[in-house]
Amino acid sequence: MTQKIPATLIPGDGIGPEISEAVVRILGAIEAPFEWDSQAAGMAGIDAHGDPLPKSLLESIRKTGLALKGPLTTPVGGGFRSVNVTLRKEFELFANLRPARTLISGGRYEDIDLVLFRENLEGYYAAMEHYLPVENDPKAVAISTGYNTRAECRRIITYAFEYAVKNNRKKVTIVHKANILKLLTGLFLEEGREVAKKYEGRVEMNERIVDACAMQLVMDPYQFDVIVTTNLFGDILSDQIAGLIGGLGMAPGANIGEKAAIFEAVHGSAPDIAGKGWANPVALLMASGLMLQHIGRKDLADRLQTGIDGAFASGVRTRDLGGSAGTKEITDAIIHHLS
Ligand code: NAD
Repeated sequence: MTQKIPATLIPGDGIGPEISEAVVRILGAIEAPFEWDSQAAGMAGIDAHGDPLPKSLLESIRKTGLALKGPLTTPVGGGFRSVNVTLRKEFELFANLRPARTLISGGRYEDIDLVLFRENLEGYYAAMEHYLPVENDPKAVAISTGYNTRAECRRIITYAFEYAVKNNRKKVTIVHKANILKLLTGLFLEEGREVAKKYEGRVEMNERIVDACAMQLVMDPYQFDVIVTTNLFGDILSDQIAGLIGGLGMAPGANIGEKAAIFEAVHGSAPDIAGKGWANPVALLMASGLMLQHIGRKDLADRLQTGIDGAFASGVRTRDLGGSAGTKEITDAIIHHLS
């Protein structure tokens, strides 16, 4: 019998429980070796424990070092800090991996296959913010301070180059805004140039300013292979590359650290369609595929991919992809095409 691997399951908010249930069903069908410890977080955490980030969840991830996370709702404005950002900090999940590959032909672009790495702990997402009062207005000026450390720049850029080597990728593009944010993103570029020297002859390196990169991703995405960038730029560009392959319902992500890794869909909790049975589970399913690769079970990740490809080839489409299938129909179709 295969050894079971303890893993934390966070069903999440909004469409989270619907897509998590679908993914756990599909993983069961391929006998994925996870032993789930289900934990509430976000709004579900507030409902169950009065805390969006309950202690029991943190303890669970501390024990398992491995989690599959449904999307969490972050209330806008004051009150709670983003649970996603706090989890990344708590477990020092420094690398955010976001692959984008065309799964359905006939969209805007064929054969997209690129991978973006986003620095996950620093930059403007350190969110050190405050207001500066002027005369009678206590909020006259809003100030946000970002920081990047040389050590963290080096760690994420090295991670991207190592990924390129291991996955037979040819080029890493360093994306920055060092012409304006000369220190904050200049340091990232400087480290990028240093790290690249160690990979000379094995992986090509080039550089792009973030605004030009955004335009080129739309004009000619095929010039990119692996992209590595700072936190805020990575957040924006990863949603953009999700748009190249059919939208957020198709884009998985992984938050990786030395001691823990949390896998998730790039999309949010989609409150507009929650409870309707329409949600597309493919992004979270592909995130579970990254999780299988992370534990060394590429064979099972490939089986999942066969199921997804088969379901799409048979014409099944959820509403976000212009079809009419619900979560259950696409889940059944994927299970049908697994082997
Ligand atoms: P969203 O990604 O939830 O939704 C954007 C649009 O995409 C909506 O129309 C939604 O219906 C659609 N959509 C998203 N995922 C889909 C899926 N799997 N199947 C079909 N359609 C899908 O973005 P939002 O509305 O800006 O955010 C909603 C909430 O999610 C917010 O509270 C936000 O903070 C949170 N959020 C969480 C995460 C996360 O947990 N990783 C990421 C992004 C946003």
